[in-house]
Amino acid sequence: MKSSIPTETDLVLIGGGHSHAIAIRKFAMNPIPGVRLTLITDVYHTPYSGMLPGYVAGLYNFDQCHIDLRPLAKFAGARIFVDRAIGLDLEKNQVLCANRPPVNFDLLSIDIGSTPASLTVPGATEYAIAVKPISKFLTYWHHITTMVSESPTQKMRIGIVGGGAGGVELAFAVESHLHQIYRNAKQPTDNLSLHLFQRATRLLPE
Ligand SMILES: Cc1cc2nc3c(=O)[nH]c(=O)nc-3n(C[C@H](O)[C@H](O)[C@H](O)COP(=O)(O)OP(=O)(O)OC[C@H]3O[C@@H](n4cnc5c(N)ncnc54)[C@H](O)[C@@H]3O)c2cc1C
Repeated sequence: MKSSIPTETDLVLIGGGHSHAIAIRKFAMNPIPGVRLTLITDVYHTPYSGMLPGYVAGLYNFDQCHIDLRPLAKFAGARIFVDRAIGLDLEKNQVLCANRPPVNFDLLSIDIGSTPASLTVPGATEYAIAVKPISKFLTYWHHITTMVSESPTQKMRIGIVGGGAGGVELAFAVESHLHQIYRNAKQPTDNLSLHLFQRATRLLPE
């Protein structure tokens, strides 16, 4: 619904991940008159990471574990710009975007999540796939499942770095899905060797 009250404050959110998705929902349920909400996000569908291992395991489909930000923004009467924020002009109070004109703000919230500093680990850029951002990880994961489905007789070796909750859960999920593909293709599941690397002396230390 369009508000008849003129915009007094432009509240801009950069990043459409978990935090801002919740903020938009709360705003929709309790709008503030005179505040116009704008979301700048580089993806339409934001993955719900708690369900990511289940998606990797093949238990959920894409829609079940992703939030479509477009209806959510509509629900909140918010504008949505699908673009990447690349800078701020603090003199003019503007967000600079990769492909669209700058976006004015009075108030700004930046929540663009975390990305592992893989560049500091020798060889990581060449050989590793970071789990974050999740949307990028899922593109690689689809590539791996397609590769195994198309060549199930080939051996596959995968290493997962990090033995915390995320890494352990992901290891089970990767194994479960790939084993299923091997079983469907009547191939031995030991075509897959999975290695979990952990710095501490035990897995799941917390
Ligand atoms: C495998 C795994 C399982 C997890 N399971 C759980 C769980 O069960 N429970 C739990 O509480 N937490 C879990 N987490 C952690 C959880 O994902 C994070 O705590 C949460 O995502 C942080 O939310 P956020 O909004 O800060 O960032 P994110 O959800 O990462 O969102 C950031 C968003 O910003 C976008 N973005 C980045 N740069 C730009 C830019 N320049 N311009 C525009 N948009 C940009 C990204 O594409 C992304 O959509 C898990 C994480 C992983 C990896």
